[in-house]
Amino acid sequence: MTTEIQMITFDLDDTLWDNKPTITNAEVKTRKWIEDRVGAIEWGDLNDFLQLRETLIRKDKRIAWDISKLRIEIFKEKFKGLVSANEITKLAEEAFSYFLKKRHEIELFPGVEDALEVLSKNYMLGVLTNGNADIYKLSIGKYFEFSISSLEAQDSKPNKSHFELAKSHLPNLKYSEMLHIGDHQINDIFGAHTLGIKVLWFNNIKALWEQDFEKPDQFYDWHSLAKIIEEKYESR
Ligand SMILES: [Mg+2]
Repeated sequence: MTTEIQMITFDLDDTLWDNKPTITNAEVKTRKWIEDRVGAIEWGDLNDFLQLRETLIRKDKRIAWDISKLRIEIFKEKFKGLVSANEITKLAEEAFSYFLKKRHEIELFPGVEDALEVLSKNYMLGVLTNGNADIYKLSIGKYFEFSISSLEAQDSKPNKSHFELAKSHLPNLKYSEMLHIGDHQINDIFGAHTLGIKVLWFNNIKALWEQDFEKPDQFYDWHSLAKIIEEKYESR
C-alpha cells in the first residue's frame, strides 16, 4: 500500500465525543462538591465568566491558553470571603482535580474506537487539543503516539504551534503528508489548511460551511472514516 499521508492528527472535544454533556456534568458535580464544603456560591452567567476571564488574562497572559489555570483562578475568585486566605489555593486545586476527573467521564461517538484501531495500523496518530482532556486517561490512548494540548503548545489552535509540534514527531515530514481531523471550522480546519495540511471536517451536526475558502471534505459518522481515508489517500 502506498499512501499520500503519514500522520493523522485529531481534535478531541466535539470530534471524538460530544463535549457539552461532558462539561455540563463535570461543572454541575464540581459546583456541588464545592458548595458541600463552603456553602452556596454565586456562580454568575456566561457574561460574568467572560468578564472574569478577561480580567484574569490581563493579570496573567498564560491564562489565555492555560485553561486549567484559568479554572483554578476562577475558583479562587469565587472562594474569596468564604474560605480563609491560606486555604483558598488548596481548595481551588482540590476542586480542580475533582473537575478534571469528572471531565474525563466521556462517551465516545459510535465507531471512534474501531476507526482509531484501523487507522493506527497504517498511520502515526496524534492529538491536537485546545482543551485539557488527557487522551492517556482514556482507553483509546493506546492508539496515539503523541498528544499536544494548549499547555504544551503554549498557544491555541488555529495558531500554528500545535501543528508544528505534531510535524516534528516524524523526521522530514511535510505538512502535505499530514491529515488533520476536527469539528471546528477555524481552530481545526482553517488552522491546518493554512499550513498546507490536508483536512477532514467532522460535521455530525450538519453545520453550514461559513468560511471564505473552499469547503473541505466532511464526514458525519465515524463508522465511515477509515473507508473515506482509504479511498482518498491510499492506492494499492
Ligand atoms: Mg473540537
